[in-house]
Amino acid sequence: MNIIQSNVGYPRIGKNREWKRLLEKYWSKKITRVTFELEMKKLRIEYLKTQKALGVELIPIGDFSYYDHVLDTAVMFGLIPKRFQSMEAASLEQYFAIARGTDQHVASEMTKWFNTNYHYLVPELKEVTPTLTHNRLLTLFNEAKYELNIVGKPVIVGPITLLSLSKGYQTEDFKEIIPQLIPLYIKVFKELEQAGAEWIQVDEPILAQNVNQEMIELFKEVYANFNDALPELNLLLQTYFGSIDHYKEITQLPVAGIGLDFVHDNGENLKQLRTFGFPQDKFLACGVIDGRSIWKSNLLDKYEHVKELSSHTQNLIIQPSCSLLHVPVTTAGEKNLDQEFVDALAFANEKLEEVALLGNVIRNREKQEELKKYSYSIIEFHKNTNRMNVEVQRQLANVDVLATSRTPFEERKRSQKEKWQLPTLPTTTIGSFPQTKEVRTNRLSYKKGSLSAEEYERFIEDEIKKWVTIQEEIGLDVFVHGEFERTDMVEFFGQRLNGMEVTINGWVQSYGSRCVKPPIISGDISFAEPMTLKETVYAKSLTSKPMKGMLTGPVTILNWSFERDDATRKEMLNQLALAIRVEINELETHGIEMIQVDEPALREGLPLKEKEREAYLTDAVTAFIIATGGVADTTQIHTHMCYSEFDEIIETIDALDADVISIEASRSHGEIIHTFERFDYTKDIGLGVYDIHSPRIPNEQEMRQNLERALRVLKTNQFWVNPDCGLKTRSPEETIEALKVMVETAKKVRSTL
Ligand code: GLN
Ligand code: ZN
Repeated sequence: MNIIQSNVGYPRIGKNREWKRLLEKYWSKKITRVTFELEMKKLRIEYLKTQKALGVELIPIGDFSYYDHVLDTAVMFGLIPKRFQSMEAASLEQYFAIARGTDQHVASEMTKWFNTNYHYLVPELKEVTPTLTHNRLLTLFNEAKYELNIVGKPVIVGPITLLSLSKGYQTEDFKEIIPQLIPLYIKVFKELEQAGAEWIQVDEPILAQNVNQEMIELFKEVYANFNDALPELNLLLQTYFGSIDHYKEITQLPVAGIGLDFVHDNGENLKQLRTFGFPQDKFLACGVIDGRSIWKSNLLDKYEHVKELSSHTQNLIIQPSCSLLHVPVTTAGEKNLDQEFVDALAFANEKLEEVALLGNVIRNREKQEELKKYSYSIIEFHKNTNRMNVEVQRQLANVDVLATSRTPFEERKRSQKEKWQLPTLPTTTIGSFPQTKEVRTNRLSYKKGSLSAEEYERFIEDEIKKWVTIQEEIGLDVFVHGEFERTDMVEFFGQRLNGMEVTINGWVQSYGSRCVKPPIISGDISFAEPMTLKETVYAKSLTSKPMKGMLTGPVTILNWSFERDDATRKEMLNQLALAIRVEINELETHGIEMIQVDEPALREGLPLKEKEREAYLTDAVTAFIIATGGVADTTQIHTHMCYSEFDEIIETIDALDADVISIEASRSHGEIIHTFERFDYTKDIGLGVYDIHSPRIPNEQEMRQNLERALRVLKTNQFWVNPDCGLKTRSPEETIEALKVMVETAKKVRSTL
């Protein structure tokens, strides 16, 4: 039997986010280009060495990037947006200009990589002629070969996935662009083959989505072309993030290996393999180690799984289910967590150890005993009853009684109108105010111990006070406390809920140099103590204006955390919902009767497969209703969403039954308006009247335009005036100035009604 231990992709950011720091230093001109490239090379080499030391035999090359692998591929093939075409092709300057924009030109759009939290840059196909600007894979392949004696496995985004993720073309054009791209891919492959490459991994994750027959035909054509040109080269067609729908046809493609995800496939890939078998002339790259979770594997189970696969094929590549880009680098630095818990974790390096151990046992290089020894900690962890909460489980069993609707909205609206006495077109903000350097330094000092808890608390109170006064001066109608005490809208709750843990170094790349540190759901989640009460009540005590409490909703907490491997998503969602429900109750009891429950991540959690979407949306709505449904008629529930195409989820948004929703609208250039031409939304709604992502202060005319455009499809008595999102990334000056314009605009429009 042939067995190879492999990796699909390795994290870029480094153990201590060295990569991020290098990028930011280069962008702010603190280091020269030469230093930047030299230091980046050191990191790249270190990652290769690490993987080799961990026993990876097929080490991915070219997964390392200065920003994003989709952008790398696009630039390599000359898919440069017109506005950047005058810059030197494939130069660093051009590369970062596309990624980040320049003073003159906006960056390429960024969007989520399938169902992950990683964002890629969307290639723009309008007015481009594909050309091979440089063979970056060849450069990187040679680097590994000559410096480390590693014959790596170049990794590239496949042509069909690349095009499917692009914009600026019609589906009809697809067939026209493909023939222009194929020779370029072939050239890259040929040069790699000549340099000594044995395997090339071609990523086609698009296959895990819904693909139609036409696309499958395209696959046949493209891969036949590759095979004709390169009959000797081993192409590995790699899929991930789900099962493939056209198993038979895909596994028959003329490639040397097929990579399948056996973790996030709902058992479908294995089922198809049992039914249809696997071609004997190919390698099966089996993604059995979960590349998305942070848990150790039970290698005894994995062993059985691989054994079964090996009864279908003699040629196996053992590997993670997808690139390890989506997990942190190593658990080695986690000193603040219980040892028992850390022992149950596996980040990228630990996952590669699992691949190696599994491979070695299957090849009889190590005893089976070792699997048992290794898996002991995760098996024990699963059994550990400290993670369970009998009371929560009891509530969960009866959760349906809490998932009931509130009084009909029209009735609630009447009671709320009387209680709150708000003007028409009320003005408010989304929650956060600037997280200035001062705020961050104080938090750091507190963390390090140089600022006492009391001192820190007083500092936060002073910030709140300052911004309550500012809100009075600006003349907003509904106030917020400003979220100064929060680092991040999910981590903050992760630190305070039972059943969630926060790591020191569990960072993953979100986009560019931006990393996130998702908390880990470690057991049954429950309310421990009030999380937002103190600051909100304090803020309320300073003003007679309504003070809106600010929480993160269950769906967003779940989508932005690492999940348990021994509970369903629905269970985790409902547990979160129950905990948030208690917090809402606390706030309400203490006189906070406007409460915003943010769900910015609702849309992005949509499953890739059509048939799974409805269940997800139903569960999301149920969780939101459990969280928010327990309040009095006069208590006003707000919610907020951004980063969304709302059209396909407007029914869901409506079903959340929030009294007021604020959504991002200015960046989508009014496209959202069409949604409301189609769908008769009757609850209160604020479509952001200005973009907070840009330091530019919009003028009154622009805001007025946005507002009036919205009022063409929405009623005056349902409309709220607010920015697109929270203001934490803006400076105080920008914030105050923009909000002043916003309030003035609202007043003027109000006076014309
Ligand atoms: N309340 C949060 C804030 O204002 C919402 C953030 C978000 O939508 N991502 O920052
Ligand atoms: Zn937002």
